[in-house]
Amino acid sequence: MNVKEILNNLEAKHPGEKEYLQAVHEVLESVETIYNENPQYEAAKIIERIVEPDRILTFKVTWIDDNGNTQVNLGYRIQFNGAIGPYKGGLRFHPSVNLSILKFLGFEQIFKNALTTLPMGGGKGGSDFDPKGKSDKEIMRFCQAFMLELWSLIGPETDVPAGDIGVGGREIGFLYGMYKKLAKEHTGVLTGKGLNWGGSLVRPEATGFGNVYFTQEMLATKGDTLKGKTVAISGFGNVAWGAALKATELGAKVVTISGPDGYIFDPAGLNAEKIDYMLELRATNNDIVAPYADEFPGSTFFAGKKPWEQKVDIALPCATQNELNGDDARKLVANGCILVGEGANMPSTEEAIKVFHDNKILFSPGKASNAGGVATSGLEMTQNSNKLNWTREEVDAKLHHIMKEIHAACVKYGTGVDGYVDYVKGANIAGFLKVADSMLDQGII
Ligand code: NDP
Repeated sequence: MNVKEILNNLEAKHPGEKEYLQAVHEVLESVETIYNENPQYEAAKIIERIVEPDRILTFKVTWIDDNGNTQVNLGYRIQFNGAIGPYKGGLRFHPSVNLSILKFLGFEQIFKNALTTLPMGGGKGGSDFDPKGKSDKEIMRFCQAFMLELWSLIGPETDVPAGDIGVGGREIGFLYGMYKKLAKEHTGVLTGKGLNWGGSLVRPEATGFGNVYFTQEMLATKGDTLKGKTVAISGFGNVAWGAALKATELGAKVVTISGPDGYIFDPAGLNAEKIDYMLELRATNNDIVAPYADEFPGSTFFAGKKPWEQKVDIALPCATQNELNGDDARKLVANGCILVGEGANMPSTEEAIKVFHDNKILFSPGKASNAGGVATSGLEMTQNSNKLNWTREEVDAKLHHIMKEIHAACVKYGTGVDGYVDYVKGANIAGFLKVADSMLDQGII
């Protein structure tokens, strides 16, 4: 395989889809050697097949706002690869949503899901709908209109969407209600459901918890722990919240959270009260973290800045793609940061990852370290099909075990001759082999 040639072809076919091409580039670079050593993959055109989604559904979503005006949004569902199980991946509602972003997320999801050890294929979807500033009724009408288009394409054994940016418990509730009305059945067609109607304990905090469990494993390779470490977290959403909670519980001091408007530096560190406040702030549907500084004296709001300029031991980017660039990475390294664990999907640019690798600091890609969310969604699917509920301790123990397994797979395929673990390479190879071999087993379809 010549990665450059394949990428050039893809670029010509999908011009301007920069996030998608970035994600494909990273995976292909990692698997190039193993691919070339196994000619059966080339014979079956595995790369050409794996980089293109099985299918993409694009649809119009029309709904009426509170003022009686007609609104029109675009909706998408990408069923990327179903070699190892039903398509599985979140729905993102955000004005930035376009095909490139959803294709990058869907592509990443294939390998992430393969790493979880659970039988789930890769998918993703969403809309350019902006939930910010909308009333609950508007959100409900939008979700119902969205599901009216989507429902016939999904099912508990076909495609199981979940939440992502802009889609939390409230939206999953509205989506599920409409699905149930149309399909006339109560099934595990969505994950992230409410506890009373099929949801799993630990799912809301699972991505952040999993990220911190993975961080623990990486530190353990150096005989180190989280105790006493200072941690910078970005975002203040689902993932950031879970990560802040678990890191604090394990003795670390989380000193930052952030929003698109800037970040909070709190030298005293977050505690249970402040983490609760973070959730309240989130529930206001407001996109600012600045009020935190008024609420908790001693903390400072840095407008328009990113948390990566602070001196910390550990950075956990948990907000969005490409939020940590080469300059940010150099600042972190210069300030003595020893570990970067991605909670978000692709938050570090390619240049930033190169800085981390060149400086041999511990770095985990989102597809490995944020896989705890989808893994717990997989556990929710199992509970639904068995019609039972596991306890918090049971789910948490399974999640913890899965994160350890993912870490072990990364170490297996990513350890270099000098002993340094390239977690990007390890995750990509482990995920790729599982999917590619499954595709071979199933013939040319
Ligand atoms: P949320 O919408 O709950 O939170 C995202 C947070 O990041 C919000 O606080 C958001 O603020 C903030 N944010 C957005 N853009 C920026 C920016 N440019 N700089 C700083 N902060 C920003 O989403 P999630 O927590 O669910 O998702 C976060 C990331 O984690 C995404 O990359 C997602 O794909 C990934 N992920 C999520 C999983 C899950 O289980 N939820 C699973 C695996 C990955 P605002 O709302 O104001 O824009």
